[in-house]
Amino acid sequence: MFSDDIISRVRDSVDIVDLISGYVSLKKAGKNHTGLCPFHSEKTPSFSVNPDKQIFHCFGCGAGGDVFKFIELQEGLNFPEAVRVLASRAGIPLPANSRSRSPDKKSEDERKDLIAIVADAAEYFRNELKGPAGSTARAYLKKRGVTDAMVQDFALGYVKPEWDGILRHLKQKGYAFNQMEKAGLIVKRNEGEGYYDRFRGRIIFPIRDISGNVIAFGGRVMDDSLPKYLNSSETPLYSKSNTLYCLDMAKEHGRKQGYFVIVEGYLDAIACHQYGVRNAVATLGTALTEGHLRLMRRFADKLVLIFDPDPAGVKASLRGFDLFMTSGMKVNVVSLPDGDDPDTFLQKHGHDAFAAHLRNSVKFMDFVLEQVVKRGSYTSIDDKVHRAEEMLGFITKIPSGIERDHYLKKTAEALDLDETVLRREIPSRPWRSASAPGGGRESAPVLVRGHRPKAEEILIHLMLKDEGIARSLKQQIRPQDFTDPLFQRAAQRIFEALNAGENFDTRALLRNDDEDLNNLILHYSVLETDYDDPQKHCRDCVDVIKQKDPEKKMKHLLKAIDEAAANEDWVEYRRLLAEQNMLGKRPDRKLGKRVPGA
Ligand SMILES: [Zn+2]
Repeated sequence: MFSDDIISRVRDSVDIVDLISGYVSLKKAGKNHTGLCPFHSEKTPSFSVNPDKQIFHCFGCGAGGDVFKFIELQEGLNFPEAVRVLASRAGIPLPANSRSRSPDKKSEDERKDLIAIVADAAEYFRNELKGPAGSTARAYLKKRGVTDAMVQDFALGYVKPEWDGILRHLKQKGYAFNQMEKAGLIVKRNEGEGYYDRFRGRIIFPIRDISGNVIAFGGRVMDDSLPKYLNSSETPLYSKSNTLYCLDMAKEHGRKQGYFVIVEGYLDAIACHQYGVRNAVATLGTALTEGHLRLMRRFADKLVLIFDPDPAGVKASLRGFDLFMTSGMKVNVVSLPDGDDPDTFLQKHGHDAFAAHLRNSVKFMDFVLEQVVKRGSYTSIDDKVHRAEEMLGFITKIPSGIERDHYLKKTAEALDLDETVLRREIPSRPWRSASAPGGGRESAPVLVRGHRPKAEEILIHLMLKDEGIARSLKQQIRPQDFTDPLFQRAAQRIFEALNAGENFDTRALLRNDDEDLNNLILHYSVLETDYDDPQKHCRDCVDVIKQKDPEKKMKHLLKAIDEAAANEDWVEYRRLLAEQNMLGKRPDRKLGKRVPGA
């Protein structure tokens, strides 16, 4: 393990906003920077990063901590590994003997071996393209308009039409057959002994992971033989549902421009980059998946799909509807004229014409409306009904009420139907989840589940916000004045930290032995509620806690109950009612009120 000194040096030399911005698109909101949580699926940002305290916390799933914790969660590392990663990022040398042996060491070693073998194969393919055997392939790429610079940047390669080219090369390098097979480079013979090359007589497109390691290959023939494209099989390194072609090159451009352009093939992606559309990525023979969206969401929350206007392409695009609606990403669609794909379009018309199409992209829902309602004319009422039903099926899945309304109107207009009739047909609010308003089921606040006394909560919050308040409270109350065990532990830890006389640092309050307490501290450190008069709030809460004034406590509670009802925050409302019951006085004014979802 590392010394505390090394750990704090590493921690202090990495800025948490810088670090997390490399993964999540963050926007400044008050004291925090917020974005879509990389650790759970959500539509509205509940992931907050606090630069003053150098911590992050997700109000949705409860994940939180400092820079090390973020790297641990994000990269799937243990603590010592996270320290190593951030130390190397900050250029801080670590003591040589601090390598720890983790249980994941074996799979990590295997991964390294596979990356090495795939890198060797990539090198071989690249040299084949440069050498005498590659002349036809070079001519083919030239004819397709791929420049030398792109051949270089995308590290394109070639493999001769023979059965054991890569096999012999890698064997010479000392690799075993089972390693080559695991890396997806060779295939076991159906009959008899031995293996043969997966890729033969093809242009080779190396597929890289987000960090730029080659993890797999795609191969394209240069004539009409089939299959036109062939990709590596799924390997421990490569899964097509979690890999996007050239995301490693596009990620920074995606972040800067706020969106990614999604195309379908290697040559489309290369043409985009060649013509300056550097935020383009391609799927690898599969429709967009949740995994793809998760990868891109770290950098931008918007996508522009270049869609194929043939009926199969339209169908495929519509199939993405549910995924796009639940992902919380903004999705726009472009269709290129005359059956062009991005490659042919760019070669013919150049960057500016393509950029104009990107600017004129339409929202995905408008595209859906176009496809379902506006195509052709309808002759029969049955046809109208059919299309209206199909649209309602889509509309009910839109999370935003305003947008649902908008598209109901548009559908009614387009089908020449009475809007109120159409509105009546809409199934009863399936989009509304059973949990509290303001957050879907997936982002139910973590810490309001229990029955936590309001006054205690406010005091903990105020202390974590303001060291002065914490110091003054330390003189007035004791941890055991808190009735909630978790708040009691929080107060204990805060007072301990103040007694230790060190600077009052949220991160110092976090310890590894109490996950619940860590979450609570992170939650209230990041939570931004403004108290108009914190000192007065403090005094009131202390009175309540010390039970000096049960009248005041009840008044306080009733006010909070009214507020919760006004905000339609029914989780909070039920919690406060329970607290009120515990105080021993049945509510007389609130009995008639029905709690939705109860
Ligand atoms: Zn989360």
